[in-house]
Amino acid sequence: MILNKVSLTKFFENTYFKKETPISLIHFLTNRCNARCSFCFIDFDNPDTFKNELSLDEIEKMTQNMGDTLLNVNFTGGEPFARKDIIEVAKCYIRNTTIQSIYITTNGSLPDRVIEYAKEIERFNNKIEQSFQISIDDFPEKHDSVRKIKNLFENCIKTYEGLLKLNSKKISVSVSITVSLENCHNIKNIFNYLVHKCNIKSLKCCLVRDEGIYKTPPEDKKKLLNAYTWLTDEIKKLKKEKKINNYNNSIQGKIHNKKDDISWEMIKNIYENDKYISPCHASSLFGVINADGKVYPCEILEDKLIGNLRENDMNFLEVWKSKKNKETKDFILNTKCKCTYECAISFNILGNWRYQHKLVAGIFNF
Ligand code: SF4
Ligand code: SF4
Repeated sequence: MILNKVSLTKFFENTYFKKETPISLIHFLTNRCNARCSFCFIDFDNPDTFKNELSLDEIEKMTQNMGDTLLNVNFTGGEPFARKDIIEVAKCYIRNTTIQSIYITTNGSLPDRVIEYAKEIERFNNKIEQSFQISIDDFPEKHDSVRKIKNLFENCIKTYEGLLKLNSKKISVSVSITVSLENCHNIKNIFNYLVHKCNIKSLKCCLVRDEGIYKTPPEDKKKLLNAYTWLTDEIKKLKKEKKINNYNNSIQGKIHNKKDDISWEMIKNIYENDKYISPCHASSLFGVINADGKVYPCEILEDKLIGNLRENDMNFLEVWKSKKNKETKDFILNTKCKCTYECAISFNILGNWRYQHKLVAGIFNF
């Protein structure tokens, strides 16, 4: 079943023509995190970083006004499981919106909390797809020291295995490697360790982004690109050999699989040649809600605040349909805004006619 609560006509009309209301949102539940990764874009030294998180009551109210095309919410942070009420937050979205999937990016340090969450959400609504992405970037000792948490690697594997053991068709889990200056020289060995020693069967990757307080020195970009190219080629190879399965065998799974292949090629091209490829649908099909209720088109355009939910009685659609967002949308299209942000690129591919034939070919494994 591709769509549950959203009407198919409405979905097509919005995704391919009107592009008025979001199909996916990224919600930064909190800026708090028990890790301190050197490449993190959060400014942990600034005490204001942790202030003013949306309360559960505010989230309840916000989720009552999110339109009728929303298919997915992506919880991130900080560490989303640092919020002890994350189960209740998820229930607000399930109860009040049309979502059919929740994706969570976690540092994997809290296996018991993650597994309890997954079980409870499945009990609450067994139609919701839950997808967990655990970040692992290096060998155990180095991973723990870069992220500055004791036994982190071990807990990541516990989280991965614990979620797999739930043996639910609606729960999927993958490991994601962020290619950065810390690991690019050793990416082959790290990949082999994860796949062959730790038996990771679902593996994704991304390129570290220049964002917030983190910037890659220009002279180092080639190193990152080479590591990312090797890694994506290797994942593709193992996907073909069925040693890595990042999605299930459903139509939706096959479309996502193909979308990843297209997205990796686009990211390499944009990163290497600074090339504009196709329009970004930030501010139209997807957007970002910060921990304090500020709404942005994406994680990167920090100077393009669309609106503050608290100043709009937590009415999300009022902010989304505002004149300010219309101007932001026009800015993104007119300036041919481009970046290597995977989430944005995913929706740019899924919401653009030009890629549909490739996605359809993916259904037939071409
Ligand atoms: S785990 Fe994520 S949010 Fe936490 S410090 Fe590292 S990069 Fe930042
Ligand atoms: S191209 Fe990147 S920076 Fe520009 S709006 Fe899209 S996600 Fe944001």
